[in-house]
Amino acid sequence: MPELEGRTALVTGGSRGIGAAICMTLASAGADVAVNYPGPDVPADEVVSEIEKLGRRAIAVCGDVSSAGDVERMTAEAVDALGGLDILVNNAGITRDGLLVRMSEQDWDSVLAVDLKSVFLCTQAAAKIMMKARSGSIVNIASVIGQIGNAGQVNYAAAKAGVIAVTKSCAKELASRGVRVNAVAPGFIETPMTAALSDKVREAAQEQIPLRRFGEAQDVANAVAWLCGDQASYITGHVINVDGGMVM
Ligand code: NAP
Repeated sequence: MPELEGRTALVTGGSRGIGAAICMTLASAGADVAVNYPGPDVPADEVVSEIEKLGRRAIAVCGDVSSAGDVERMTAEAVDALGGLDILVNNAGITRDGLLVRMSEQDWDSVLAVDLKSVFLCTQAAAKIMMKARSGSIVNIASVIGQIGNAGQVNYAAAKAGVIAVTKSCAKELASRGVRVNAVAPGFIETPMTAALSDKVREAAQEQIPLRRFGEAQDVANAVAWLCGDQASYITGHVINVDGGMVM
C-alpha cells in the first residue's frame, strides 16, 4: 500500500515550483490533496488535473496565506472536500530582495507576512483539526538563508529563521496530541524563484555547494513526503537541509 494512502493534505502555494512538486509527490504516495493558490486566476488547475490522473482526489483552494480570513475559509474548504486534514505543508513564499539601507518597510512587511505569519495562521487552523484527531504531520518550508543569513535578504532571512523557531515551538506544543511538526530547509533549487538569478550570482552560489549544482524541486518534495509518512513517526521539531551540503 502506498505510504500516504487514505491521507488528506493541504499544500500552500501548490500551483508551481516546489509546491507543485510536493503536491504531485504526496499524491503519488497515495494522498488526496488540496492545492492552495493566491488567485484571482486559477493556476492550480493544471496540478489538480495531474493529481486526478494519478487516481487521487484534488481541489484547488484559493486564498492568500497571509490573511487570517482566507486561511480559515480555505482550510474549511479543504476539510469539507477531502473529509479531513492529516498533512499540512506550509510552502508558499515570496522574496523582495534589497540591501538593508534601501529596503522599504513594505518589502519587509510583505515578506514577513507571506513567509512567516502564514505559517502561524495555517498551522493554527490545521492544528485545531489535527489535535482533535490526535494525529497529523506539518512540514514547513524554511531555507538555509534562515540559518546563515544573506546580504540583500534581511527580510527573507528573518522570516525563514522565524519559520524554524515556529517549527520547534509548535513541535513541543503539539507532540502530546500526536501532531508532528518539522521543517525542510532548501538551499538553491531550480524554480521560477531562482531562474531570475544572474549567471554571475548562479556561479558564485554553485561554488558554495559541495555537490556543485542546484537541486531540483523533486529533491525537496522527496524529503517532505518522507517526513509526512509513518517512516518518520519518531521525528518532530527537526530541520532537514536539502542543499547539496551547502550548510553543515
Ligand atoms: P515559487 O516558484 O515562486 O512559488 C511560490 C508559490 O507560492 C507560488 O505557487 C505562489 O503562487 C505562491 N504564493 C505566493 N504568495 C502567496 C500567497 N500570499 N498566498 C498563497 N500562495 C502564495 O517559489 P519556490 O521556489 O517554489 O519556493 C517555494 C518555497 O520554497 C518558498 O517558501 C521558498 O521560500 C522556499 N525556498 C525556495 C528555494 C529555491 O531555491 N527556489 C530555496 C529555499 C527555500 P503564484 O505563483 O500564483 O504567485
